[in-house]
Amino acid sequence: MAKKPKDILVIGGEEVLPGERANIEIPVAPTYTHDTLAISVQVVRGEKPGPKLFVCAAIHGDEINGVEIIRRLLKNPLLDRLKGTLIAIPIVNIYGFIHHTRYLPDGRDLNRTFPGSPRGSLTGRIADVFMKEIVANSTHGIDLHTGARHRSNFPQIRADLDDPVTLGLTEAFGAPLAINSKTRDGSLRQCASEQGVPVILYESCEALRFDEIYIRAGEMGVINVMRHLGMLRRRRAKNKPPLISQHTFWVRAPESGVLRVLVPLGAEVSSGQIIGFIADPLGTREVDVVAEHPGIVIGRTNLPLVYEGDALFHIASVGARETWELDEFREAMAPAAEEIDPEDLSSAPIAG
Ligand SMILES: [Zn+2]
Repeated sequence: MAKKPKDILVIGGEEVLPGERANIEIPVAPTYTHDTLAISVQVVRGEKPGPKLFVCAAIHGDEINGVEIIRRLLKNPLLDRLKGTLIAIPIVNIYGFIHHTRYLPDGRDLNRTFPGSPRGSLTGRIADVFMKEIVANSTHGIDLHTGARHRSNFPQIRADLDDPVTLGLTEAFGAPLAINSKTRDGSLRQCASEQGVPVILYESCEALRFDEIYIRAGEMGVINVMRHLGMLRRRRAKNKPPLISQHTFWVRAPESGVLRVLVPLGAEVSSGQIIGFIADPLGTREVDVVAEHPGIVIGRTNLPLVYEGDALFHIASVGARETWELDEFREAMAPAAEEIDPEDLSSAPIAG
């Protein structure tokens, strides 16, 4: 009888067999000083077959919270009993990562350039490499993001929740809130989904910062999705389902000035509630910032210096629902004192 061919996964020209763990460097355009650059990938394959999940971060080069989520995930001893394959890409946009910026050196946004082309712009070529080497070798994906510079996001999943597979991944992740969004924007999420690889996007924290609670929620979320897919042993206890939002809106600055914020991330606000005020530097005049509709604060600016028209708060409308406690989420994710590894904590305080 002919021997069954081995299940070989080829990424970046390297073969990875079941039961193997490999670090792979996928070369991309070097710097103009001819220093070589490569996207680092770790492939972890269980002995037993199963889904192939990619987890990537820093598609926007300054969104680094996910880099730490992946670093911790790869150290997690649960991976010793993995079924299927985990493909981890901590830094997709290495050019932006080096320069602390969202974009690539050609000024493009990688997450608006998918699927890219091998003969296109530098950004388009990176997108093309990612589609061919990573997405084509995956069955599911998780894309880790943060708010932009000076903007924090409350932990949330963005996904096409009308798709039952994606909804299942979203509910399994365990973030407190999920936004139903279908995109036609050249994002990785859109292009991978069109190729039959459902992707959910985890947003949390701020660019160029770590947040301990949101990092823990992210690592736990990826592990929860792996349990849901049968890549890790399932647990009996199910997560509380996320609040689902079909619509979000921005509250913009009615005037230029110095902003004081009156509500934290995750706060529930009512229609007409004063959620901040803007004053001139001498304090002679103060203008209220008002939420026109009810919802949950899922994003806010951290920079108190604002121009008229600046987006200050991002608010998610949520329909009728059960009571939902922000404190419950924080308590569940906060490390017990004896669990804190000083190496894992950034100098930034845990966000309030
Ligand atoms: Zn992003």
